[in-house]
Parts: sequence; structure tokens; C-alpha cells
Amino acid sequence: MSGLMQGKRGLIMGVANNHSIAWGIAKAVHAEGAELAFTYQGDALGRRVHPLAAELGSDFVVPCDVEDIASVDSVFDAIKERWGKLDFVVHAIGFSDKSELKGQYANTTRENFVRTMVISCFSFTEIAKRAAALMPDGGSLLTLTYGGSTAVVPNYNVMGVAKAGLEASMRYLAGDFGPQGIRVNAISAGPVRTLAGSGVGDARLVYAWQQRNAPLRRSTTIEDVGGSALYLLSDLAAGVTGEIHFVDNGYNILSMPIPEMMRR
Ligand code: NAD
Repeated sequence: MSGLMQGKRGLIMGVANNHSIAWGIAKAVHAEGAELAFTYQGDALGRRVHPLAAELGSDFVVPCDVEDIASVDSVFDAIKERWGKLDFVVHAIGFSDKSELKGQYANTTRENFVRTMVISCFSFTEIAKRAAALMPDGGSLLTLTYGGSTAVVPNYNVMGVAKAGLEASMRYLAGDFGPQGIRVNAISAGPVRTLAGSGVGDARLVYAWQQRNAPLRRSTTIEDVGGSALYLLSDLAAGVTGEIHFVDNGYNILSMPIPEMMRR
């Protein structure tokens, strides 16, 4: 351990289990000395998150459903009371009705559009505002996005639209909070086998497709994302804000997969 995150305290939002991207990030920053608080959504996930937090030496575990703004407020009240201030936040939260993560985007309902946007996009703005108020010495905010924001991915549908909004929010927040020394960035991860990831129609096909066609010919892991998040959350990235950093084995650079006959 080199202690890159020694003395830093951070909030990890979005651990559902040990396959979650947020868990990969938590492990990486803890290994470098960060002290962590965790949120969980609902009692069932709480039963999983408590022992995971304990593995990383944390008993600071609080409930949070971002659809309920009072519960978001109570998270930041708890942080203010226990720590007084905060150095970083990881926002790894996304949701859309599974029944609309298949077929045509055009069939998205108004109700699910709004819900998806509130949970997967606007929650980052609400969280960032509250976190920034606890960052008098500057800090780092990180969210998770996916390439379905800028290009059509089958079945990703309204989540792609929410991720486009999330990416734009990230840039505006970077503009807002930059003068306070608060950096705001996003990691655009390749497909990872998680609870949320498996909710997208034909997810297995998408995992296999990326593994087969990404330049590095491998699947994205939560450890891959953890390593890049560590950089963005640490002082190594002191000059980086408003950035979308791809952790997708290079898939985003392709305009088409390289056909079999042209492969060496
Ligand atoms: P995950 O299921 O492990 O995590 C999703 C988290 O969102 C869960 O912890 C869940 O409790 C939380 N969440 C959903 N609705 C919530 C609400 N109302 N209030 C509070 N929390 C809520 O899946 P994951 O893949 O680790 O997802 C983390 C983030 O990474 C998401 O934003 C997701 O879109 C993004 N992402 C995932 C992939 C992938 O392939 N898995 C790729 C790129 C980006």
C-alpha cells in the first residue's frame, strides 16, 4: 500500500453486492488508505452491504433511496455529524424499469422516463450539491456512465438517454464547483456482469460481443474500474475535471468490429 488515499474520507453510493462496480472502487481506494462510508437502498441490500463495509473496516453504513430526497439529506447530515467534511463521493446508481430495457426506445413510457431520469441522472446533481457543501478543502466526485449515451446500444433505450443527461450534468457540475477545487468526472465502463447490468435485455450477448470485439479482447472487471477510479479520486488527477474516462478495453474507439477475415 502506497497510501495514495491516506487521510481521505469518502462516500460510496451504489454497492448492492460484491459484484457491484461501486464495490470494485471501494476496494481500490480502501487499499490506498481511504476511510469509507457506504449507503444502501432498502433493508435487503443493507444486509449485504453491512458485512462488505465491515470487510473494509467501516461501520459507517446508512440507508439512502435517491427517490426520497429526505433520505439523501439524512446521509449528508450523518456525514456532517460524524466527519464534519468529505473528500470524495462515488455515485454508482442507476435504475430503469426492466420491462422497458428491451425492444424499442420509442415505447418508453412517460412514467418510466421520469423515474429513470430522477434516479439515474438527477440524483447525481442532488448529491453533488450536498457533497460540495461538505468540501471546504476541495474534493472529487465521480459517477458511472456507459457508451449507450452517445451511440445506440440495443435494449439500453431510456438508460442511454439518462446517461447522456448524466454526462452533461457532470460537465456542468465540474463548471459550477471547479472554482471551489472540486473535481467532477465520470467513468464510462464497458459491460460488467452486475445486478443492474443483467437487467438490460440480451445482456449476455452484449458482454460476449464486447469481449470478442474490444481491442483488448477481454471483459471489463470491477477491478479495472476500481483502478481508474482510484486515479480520478486521488490527487494524481488534480488537474482533471469534466472528463469522461473510458474503461472499456478500448471498445469506444471502434466504428465497426474488425471482421473475422481481417483478423491476424
Ligand atoms: P449494481 O446493481 O451493482 O448497482 C446499482 C446500484 O444502484 C445498486 O446498489 C442499487 O441499490 C442502486 N440504486 C438503484 N436505484 C436506487 C435508488 N432509488 N436509490 C439509491 N440507490 C439506487 O450495478 P452496477 O452495474 O454496479 O451499477 C453501478 C453504476 O454503473 C450504474 O450507474 C450503472 O448504470 C453503471 N454502469 C454499469 C455498467 C455495467 O455493465 N454493469 C456499465 C457502465 C456503467
